[in-house]
Amino acid sequence: MKILVIEDEQALLESILAYFIGEGNICEFASNFASASEKIALYNYDCILLDLGLPDGEGLELLSQLKQMKKKDGVLILSARHSLDDRLAGLDLGADDYLVKPFHLSELKARVSAIVRRKNFDGDNLILFNEIKVDVSAMKTSVFNNQIVLTKKEFDLLVYFLANKNKIVTKNAMAEHLWGDEMDLSNDFDFIYTHVKNLKKKLAEAGGKDYLRSVYGIGYKFGDA
Ligand code: CA
Repeated sequence: MKILVIEDEQALLESILAYFIGEGNICEFASNFASASEKIALYNYDCILLDLGLPDGEGLELLSQLKQMKKKDGVLILSARHSLDDRLAGLDLGADDYLVKPFHLSELKARVSAIVRRKNFDGDNLILFNEIKVDVSAMKTSVFNNQIVLTKKEFDLLVYFLANKNKIVTKNAMAEHLWGDEMDLSNDFDFIYTHVKNLKKKLAEAGGKDYLRSVYGIGYKFGDA
């Protein structure tokens, strides 16, 4: 998952980042309104963790910005106990859920995962695509019911392809999504090719059909349509 953490409490920000990065996610952060606003305009995230009280602006205003830009990022509001009105306003503005501080990081992770599943796969833990079966929460993949072993990057890549089934995904978007925001500035996407090639090989070795097409000069398309 690719997550943006918008939080100005340094200690909380650091513990959230350490936790999600430790779980193998791509995490970006913003500790004020201005940098958060810039990031949400430039990049896309699976989920944005949004603290409403920022030193230089209102988190709710960021929700309005996302809405104006017609962005599809999931949003989980991190709010103080007393601010019920803000939470309701946030949900009204399109936030997916909220969590009251203080919270356990494991609870935070469960909420984030639920939002991402809801956005991408109608809430299912299990993604089925012909002979391919992916269990998102257990991080297991099988082809014709035979389990295959993927690296974390290959797994994330497959989930990303399945979330964008039958659509062209650009190398740019893949780099940004799977490696982080600064990677979209890179001109050399050879590292993507290596992971795609390995994923393709493992699916083929398990007897899977070849669903992956490379779209010359642009990126890839995964699907059967
Ligand atoms: Ca705050």
